[in-house]
Amino acid sequence: MSEHQEKSIHVAGEWRTAASGATREVLDPADATVLAVVAEGGAEDADAAIAAAHEAFGNGRGPWPATPVAERAALLRRVADLLRRDREELGLLESRDAGKTLEEGRVDVDCVADAFRYFADLVAGESGGRVVDAGSPDVHSVVVHEPVGVCALITPWNYPLLQASWKIAPALAAGNTVVVKPSEITPLTTIALVRLLVEAGLPDGAANLVTGPGDPVGARMAEHPLVDLVSFTGGLASGTRVMRAAADTVKKVALELGGKNPNVVFADACTTAEGFDTAVDQALNAAFVHSGQVCSAGSRLIVEESLRERFVAELARRADRIRIGRGTDPGVECGPLVSAAQLARTEDFVASALAEGAVLRAGGERPDEPGLADGWFYRPTVLDRCHRGMRIVREEVFGPVLTVETFRTEDEAVALANDTEYGLAGAVWTADAGRARRVAGRLRHGTVWINDFHPYLPQAEWGGFGKSGIGRELGPAGLAEYRESKHVYQNLAPRPVRWFKG
Ligand code: NAD
Repeated sequence: MSEHQEKSIHVAGEWRTAASGATREVLDPADATVLAVVAEGGAEDADAAIAAAHEAFGNGRGPWPATPVAERAALLRRVADLLRRDREELGLLESRDAGKTLEEGRVDVDCVADAFRYFADLVAGESGGRVVDAGSPDVHSVVVHEPVGVCALITPWNYPLLQASWKIAPALAAGNTVVVKPSEITPLTTIALVRLLVEAGLPDGAANLVTGPGDPVGARMAEHPLVDLVSFTGGLASGTRVMRAAADTVKKVALELGGKNPNVVFADACTTAEGFDTAVDQALNAAFVHSGQVCSAGSRLIVEESLRERFVAELARRADRIRIGRGTDPGVECGPLVSAAQLARTEDFVASALAEGAVLRAGGERPDEPGLADGWFYRPTVLDRCHRGMRIVREEVFGPVLTVETFRTEDEAVALANDTEYGLAGAVWTADAGRARRVAGRLRHGTVWINDFHPYLPQAEWGGFGKSGIGRELGPAGLAEYRESKHVYQNLAPRPVRWFKG
């Protein structure tokens, strides 16, 4: 399925090769063969895309920001329709590029279409400003919201289409112009999405795309004086670099970074066979969906001590039975890791955990099926007897690895769940409604699930406490990120104030 897309850079409505002529091979993580060849952009391409976005913004009077809100919303709804039209093709592309199962790829497309629709409806339903009572009939005071300007949108490789859309949809809904930089590892669905934006009728220059590496392309976007906002989703190390690079120009910064997410299971959730089955099933789902390459993966199981052995034994039994393979093959439940580097990182983390005293209950190795030998596969892994002193409990692995810690009291469970520098998401499993609310209230994480794991809603904000990031995506706050507030105070009966008496 190798495809030549050397013209994968989109600037001012034109598809281009990299200025340098450089290209990059995009690899299939299931067998390391070449899926596509795309442009390997550089700083020069970033500059051109930013200049185009700046020109198209036209100080807020360019074709897109000047488009009436109802028409902007209509265009975003058209994009949602086109995504649904191309669901199979896009789902397949995402599955091949990111290594996820075909079904996951399809679900991603549905969620992306929902996000476009949500932000279209949100802006279309707004009143356009908020009148403020200035305390005088002679004053008309109103707060209006305006687009920020040129938005640089930088995304990771695990949910390429989804992460790009959580930024592009609200940024465009608010009337900004954008420059998108997908991960160099998985750029294919973002290229396809920009083609759909063009097909939907977005004016030239409103959405520009540069394929290429984090440094120099992303780094240039973060520091560029004509970029007004940088929204970044990715790892902590790159995120802090982006924040530093953005500081000199005091641009707005939104960061969606990693997580080390606790899944807290109280024994009272597992007193019935059904409760036990559900909690184990969801713990597997929390940790191993997309081979654990999920920012909100429930990679830390924190289980009540009295339940530990029964729970972990069943969890390990089921983890061993997860069917690994190429994401597009029928019946496959877990695909490969995205790259050789990600596989090596996972192996290194597991080795260090074992050296620090963790007990291996499942996985801990690459699969030995000959058909999987060329891909970056790793078996779902359960590590028992873990504790906060271990690197694997503190740092994000981003692979199919679940660590197990235990607690005896509710206070201890909360303390463990909050004992992380991250704060993206967490869950509590209990049959006690009061306990559920108490624990949820005390967890310092941006999303808390009670008796569930992973669902999110386009209407509800997504983002992290602590080092999981700054700002929110989705929900009204996800739109507000892409806006400036302007207070317009109109004096209807101006008179001298006589502050200066002379
Ligand atoms: P990464 O930080 O390596 O790369 C993310 C993006 O940043 C890529 O496009 C990359 O090219 C670019 N980049 C790298 N260095 C840069 C720099 N100096 N300046 C500007 N851009 C730069 O992350 P990744 O490995 O692609 O993705 C995995 C990470 O993303 C994990 O830590 C995961 O938790 C996080 N993530 C977070 C969320 C969330 O919603 N919080 C969602 C998905 C992924």
